[in-house]
Amino acid sequence: MRPARRIARVLAALSLAVGLTTCATNPATGGHMLSLISEPQEIAMGREADASIIAQMGLVPDTALQRYVSDLGLRLARASERPNLPWTFRVVDDPIINAFALPGGYIYVSRGILAHFNSEAELASVLGHEIGHVTARHSVQQLSKQQLAQIGVGVAQIAAPRLGQVLGIATQGLELLFLKFGRDDENQADQLGLRYMRRGGYDSREMVKVYVMLERVSAASGGGRLPDWQSTHPNPVDRQQRINSAVAALPPDSLGTLVRRPEYLQRVDGIVFGNNPRDGYFKETRFYHPDLRFRVTFPAGWKTFNTRQVVAAQPTEEDAQILLTAGPGATPDSAANAFFGNEAVRGQPQRQQINGLPAVSGSFTAQTQSGQTIAGAAAFISHGGLVYEIIGMATQAAWSQRQAAITSTLQSFGSLTDAAILAVQPFRLDVIRVDRDATLTDFARRYPGPVSVSALAVMNNVDSTATLPRNSFAKRVVGTPLP
Ligand SMILES: [Zn+2]
Repeated sequence: MRPARRIARVLAALSLAVGLTTCATNPATGGHMLSLISEPQEIAMGREADASIIAQMGLVPDTALQRYVSDLGLRLARASERPNLPWTFRVVDDPIINAFALPGGYIYVSRGILAHFNSEAELASVLGHEIGHVTARHSVQQLSKQQLAQIGVGVAQIAAPRLGQVLGIATQGLELLFLKFGRDDENQADQLGLRYMRRGGYDSREMVKVYVMLERVSAASGGGRLPDWQSTHPNPVDRQQRINSAVAALPPDSLGTLVRRPEYLQRVDGIVFGNNPRDGYFKETRFYHPDLRFRVTFPAGWKTFNTRQVVAAQPTEEDAQILLTAGPGATPDSAANAFFGNEAVRGQPQRQQINGLPAVSGSFTAQTQSGQTIAGAAAFISHGGLVYEIIGMATQAAWSQRQAAITSTLQSFGSLTDAAILAVQPFRLDVIRVDRDATLTDFARRYPGPVSVSALAVMNNVDSTATLPRNSFAKRVVGTPLP
C-alpha cells in the first residue's frame, strides 16, 4: 500500500457521464455503430478514469522508460485513423502481465508485461492492439452497453458499501475499466494492431511471439491462473494461426523489418520484477511495510490482500473483514471523530497508546445502507506523519466469534525496526550478453539468481531446453529472497 486518501476514491471511477444517443461511423472500420457517447465525452471519460488508474495502480517511477513507451505509442497512434485524440501511454507499476485501453486514447502496459517482452516489435504489437481497441471504439461501445444495463440500477447500489463488499466494490470498479471484449473485437484489434505495426515499420511476425509468451506464462502457472491480459483478452486456440495467416496474406515487402531486440532489452534492463516488497509484503500472517516502517499481524487463516490503497483481510466465511488504510493531514482524534461522528455509527472511542504510538480506538456498531447491523472495532494510529486507520467489522451474529482476532490485529500495529526487513529490495531484471553458446541451465549456473530455469525460459520466451547463442542478449533476475 501507499499513503492515500480513503478507499472511497475507487468510486470516482464509477462516476461515468451518461450521454445522448448519437449515430456514428466507426473511424477504423468504416462501419456504422450505435454509440451513446460523443468523442468529447469519450475523451472526458478516459481522462477521468486515467486519474483513477494512476491512483489505484501507480506509475513506474522511471521517466526514461515512460518516455520510451510513450514515444513508441504516439508514433503508432498518430499514424492511425484517429491521430488527434489526446493519446496517452503509461507504464503502470503492476507486476501482473497486463495491457489495457480506455476510451479517448489512454493506454497502459504493466511493468509485468514489459518484463516479458523480448523485442520492441512485441511491445509495438501490443500497443497497436490496444490502439486498435480505441480507434475501433470498442471500449466506448462496451461502455454504452454497460451504461444501458446500469442506468438507474447499478451505480446507486454500487455506491452504497455493505459489509463484505468493500473489496467487491474495488473489483467492480476495476472490471468496469478493464473491459472485457468479445472475440470479434479481439480479432479486429489484432488486425488493426498488425496494420499499425506495419505502418511503424515493425516486423508483424513478432505479434505471434506475444501470444506464445502468454501461453508459456499460462502453462508455467499451472494453466489455472491466466495472466490478466489473457483472461481479459479471450484467447481462442486458433489465435496464433489466425495472426500467422493474416501475416502470410500480406504482401511480403509490406511486412516491416524492425524487431529491435537488443535495443528493447537495454530499455528494460534493471526494471523491478515481481512484487515490490518496499510497498509492503506478507510473511504468513505478518504484514511488513519497509517504506512506511510499520508492522501488523492479521488473524491466522484469513485471506489477505495488499493493494496500493488498502491492506485487507477476510476469513473464508466472509462474515468479517479488516481494512487498513493510511492518509496524511489528520490526527488520530480527527480521524476517529470523522468515523464515529457518522450518524450510522455508534461507539465511544478512547485515547490510548498502541505499542507506544498515539492512538484513538473503540468498538462500534453500525447500520449499513441495506439496514443490516454490523459490529466492529476501529483504531486510528499516528505513526511517521501519517494516520493509520484500521477498521475490523463483522456481522452481528459473527462478532462474538471474530472480536478477539480483530482486536488483536488492531493492537498489533507497531513500528518496524528490524534492519533486515527495512532494507529489503525488489528483484530486478538483469540483461546479460551471452559470451558463448549456453543452454538455459548453463546460463542459470553462470548467472545465478533467485528464479528457476523454467521461470527464465518463460521470461526469455524459449523452451527450457533451448540454447542461447553466443553474443545474444538474455534476461535473468537478480535479488535476494525476503528475510
Ligand atoms: Zn484486446
